[in-house]
Amino acid sequence: MLIVMENHATREQIDRVVKTIEEMGYSARPMPGETRTTVGLVGNDGRVDSSRVESLPGVAEVIHVSKPYKQVSREWKEKNTIVSLAPGVEFGGTDIVIIAGPCSVESEKQIVEAARVVRAAGAGALRGGAFKPRSSPYSFQGLGKPGLEMLALARRETGLPVVTEALDEEGAHLVAEYADCIQIGARNMQNYSLLRAVGRINKPVLLKRGMAATITDLLMSAEYILAEGNTQVILCERGIRSFDTLTRNLFDLTAIPIVQKLSHLPIIGDPSHGTGLRDKVIPMARAAVAAGADGVIVEVHPDPDHALSDGGQSLFPDQFARLVTELRAISSAIGRDVAPAPEFAGAGTAAGARA
Ligand code: PEP
Ligand code: MN
Repeated sequence: MLIVMENHATREQIDRVVKTIEEMGYSARPMPGETRTTVGLVGNDGRVDSSRVESLPGVAEVIHVSKPYKQVSREWKEKNTIVSLAPGVEFGGTDIVIIAGPCSVESEKQIVEAARVVRAAGAGALRGGAFKPRSSPYSFQGLGKPGLEMLALARRETGLPVVTEALDEEGAHLVAEYADCIQIGARNMQNYSLLRAVGRINKPVLLKRGMAATITDLLMSAEYILAEGNTQVILCERGIRSFDTLTRNLFDLTAIPIVQKLSHLPIIGDPSHGTGLRDKVIPMARAAVAAGADGVIVEVHPDPDHALSDGGQSLFPDQFARLVTELRAISSAIGRDVAPAPEFAGAGTAAGARA
């Protein structure tokens, strides 16, 4: 439920609404807006009797949020949420952001080289997994903490903010120390204790759609993060399981405009896991941007043939550079632009040595 205050509602009137909501056994989230404050009521599962707040002085209107997800919905917040990973690297605004890098961090040399090539081509952020959720326990599981240190080095060398996955609560705290954005992968989209944990960490979260999750499931999972107080969530369409064997997943582009209608959170596309096939990544990355995605996340490897994971879907650096040029053209055709790489004074400087 949302309580919209009158334009000139006083501090005392807002406090009284908050106190009444708390007396009713719920939590209150005051949200000051440009012209008036809205107070959100959270903690309910179903319709709440609004008669007590409706009659309070300063209350203009009470809105019942009809969706099962509350804080994630556009009913709750009309304007897009902007999620910032670094100055100028913002999701949900006019510009689209390209996150690129290898599936896994493999060595210092590999990740620094990957960061340099993707930055030179126009990426705004670096990806790379240090903790890898693999289908087989015998496959490469990632380098763990040393991998996070390598990502931090790559950021110092290039100025690119880092996105990397956490597999569990302990890992989430560790990732938060090194990265600019905590990725929650498809397999963990419904790991509610992990979602709650990242909801309590003050870091942007990239939440990927589960491979058998509906769009509503994705939004409900995001609600877990927002319910804990973290509103910095970027959603990601990464393909869902289908009966077709010719692609790894079915890249559900329709999810992009659907989410944008239902939620104020930004949504990006992952055509790498969405297709699983290198030569399909490029057309589907173009399509994601054309469909209105706020960005893409693309696997790029300096030497895909020798990658320790997902080499077959990783772009070669020159392919990625061409793709960025194409994404610029598509963005401009729909009134957007690719965000420029974040400013960087150079390795070894104060800005470069951040974190
Ligand atoms: C990844 O981004 O490397 C990854 C494992 O993705 P997903 O969780 O979408 O499978
Ligand atoms: Mn991968």
